[in-house]
Amino acid sequence: MYAFRYQTASSAADAASRLAAHEDAKLLAGGQTMIASMKLRLASPSDLIDLAGAADLHGITVDAKGVTLGAMSRHAEVARSADVQKAIPVLAKLAGGIGDRMVRNMGTMGGSVANNDPAADYPAAVLGLNATVNTTTCSIAADDFFLGMYETALQPGEIITSISFPIAKRAAYMKFKNPASRYAMVGVLVAQLADGSVRVAVTGAGPVVFRVAAMEKALEASFTPAAVASIKVPAEGLNSDIHAQADYRAHLITVMAKRAVEAALA
Ligand SMILES: Cc1cc2nc3c(=O)[nH]c(=O)nc-3n(C[C@H](O)[C@H](O)[C@H](O)COP(=O)(O)OP(=O)(O)OC[C@H]3O[C@@H](n4cnc5c(N)ncnc54)[C@H](O)[C@@H]3O)c2cc1C
Repeated sequence: MYAFRYQTASSAADAASRLAAHEDAKLLAGGQTMIASMKLRLASPSDLIDLAGAADLHGITVDAKGVTLGAMSRHAEVARSADVQKAIPVLAKLAGGIGDRMVRNMGTMGGSVANNDPAADYPAAVLGLNATVNTTTCSIAADDFFLGMYETALQPGEIITSISFPIAKRAAYMKFKNPASRYAMVGVLVAQLADGSVRVAVTGAGPVVFRVAAMEKALEASFTPAAVASIKVPAEGLNSDIHAQADYRAHLITVMAKRAVEAALA
């Protein structure tokens, strides 16, 4: 690990001004990715700005419209929140299935979404539930946020402050996980939103989370497992690695989507 200056931010605005003061400064949330990247010398920030003390980035708010998670909400906090479990159960369940106990106790929703790992779980929730990413400068619709592998719409110096998830009529997430890391080899979130529209978001299968329009259309016509059972997603462009080939991942998308619909109806 290279030497760096450690700073603590007292608020999102404080973090933004500290970030702006040093060209090579980086934010530290749960450190689950950042610290490992620094140890491996894949990242060498001049300054590390710790968000843990920024009170306005913490907290979970639930009202009749939805759930807003502060960027520093730890996965374990979201998983055990009775309010989240009641309002958007799929969100609590998804958070509870991330990594292991240590990762869940340290990792944050904002860090996960900003990092946009192609196999991360939260991007499927953000896209599948049609959430809005709130930042220090603006609000970004889920459909505009995830641009590519580890690439998002965040501009340099922009910090995620919270994410607002609307309450869905029904939703479920099914993940075929890597048994070692628990990252998604394929994860599918199916949601029927309050207006009746359906979203199907897939993580782990491609370079970035994506929606499956054919499945959404079929489920809007008939929200049943049978509606997606024969819909195939082309393997072209999907990930092939030591864990699974693209055609296997393509097959898993249909299987996980069908199971997610079953779970959403249960
Ligand atoms: C062993 C292991 C297993 C894991 N398994 C899973 C899994 O099954 N599913 C899954 O989804 N994830 C998994 N993860 C990832 C983990 O859950 C974290 O979400 C992820 O590492 C990043 O979150 P963090 O809070 O630790 O962020 P950090 O590592 O602190 O930061 C990550 C990046 O985001 C930036 N950042 C942080 N907060 C903000 C913000 N508010 N605004 C803008 N940028 C910000 C940082 O500068 C950095 O570039 C795993 C990680 C490990 C180490």
